[in-house]
Amino acid sequence: MTTARSAVHSSVRFGGQGVLITGAGGGIGRETALRFAAEGAKVAVVDIDRDAAESVVATIAESGGESVALTCDVTSAAAVEALVAQAVEALGDLSVVVNNAGGGAAAFVEMDEAEWDRQINLNLKSAFLVSHAVWPVLKARGGGTILNAGSIAGRWGQSGLLAYSTSKAAIAMFTRALALDGGPFGIRVNCVVPGNIRTPALEAFFESQDDPASVYEKAVAMTSVGRLGTSADVAEAYLYLASDAASFITGTELLIDGGLTLGLRE
Ligand code: NAD
Repeated sequence: MTTARSAVHSSVRFGGQGVLITGAGGGIGRETALRFAAEGAKVAVVDIDRDAAESVVATIAESGGESVALTCDVTSAAAVEALVAQAVEALGDLSVVVNNAGGGAAAFVEMDEAEWDRQINLNLKSAFLVSHAVWPVLKARGGGTILNAGSIAGRWGQSGLLAYSTSKAAIAMFTRALALDGGPFGIRVNCVVPGNIRTPALEAFFESQDDPASVYEKAVAMTSVGRLGTSADVAEAYLYLASDAASFITGTELLIDGGLTLGLRE
């Protein structure tokens, strides 16, 4: 545990709480880790990329926050079991889990069985594995919060994103069904549904297009608010859903898309 400041923050929302975030080495997960840490949480920064996780921990330490870098492939049941044990030992407590790791794209006709399995495992099975592993921990402490990463691709369906869209639609139902199981134990389960968020993954997608600028401008024009989202937009939603202010909210999907999916516009 890298600790640059040991005082528990009493005036912030997550003072002293343990928060585990998967895929926290980059993009939305990174920003979410920084913001939980800034609000006093002790954060397990989990990523398959050790350097990325350690870089986030270093940034948190510079700001006086507390975190630990844990390397894990969240599609492996054995690795996830070990991860949760490590996180509880390092943080001392675990009350919030953010199943953020995800991604993937492949055209249907080009996708083989291995790629289908890879994307479904990363976007869906990982949430099951992590939730299953932390469940006894959350139950034993009298409750907690599980947050999942959905996507508007799971609502619209999207050409070229068959497995991704399918897994993101499924994570919404996973959220609702697990929320029913969690209620009696004080465990809330919610899901965010981001639209186009300017992470490295989305920037790479734009750059892969023949005319990145026009694809970007088209994406902006499709929103109602006239801009793409930022990782901070999604991170703030995670913090809200994990906070006491959302104590009556469970099994929901919070749409964060700047109005992209509201309907057709003139
Ligand atoms: P990203 O690619 O920038 O970051 C994902 C992180 O997950 C990376 O650091 C990567 O190393 C890590 N990771 C990948 N496989 C892993 C594994 N098996 N085990 C552990 N870590 C692993 O992604 P992002 O754009 O920040 O997206 C984060 C989440 O938000 C994803 O679930 C994504 O589907 C969802 N989302 C993103 C957008 C968007 O526009 N960026 C939109 C909707 C939903």
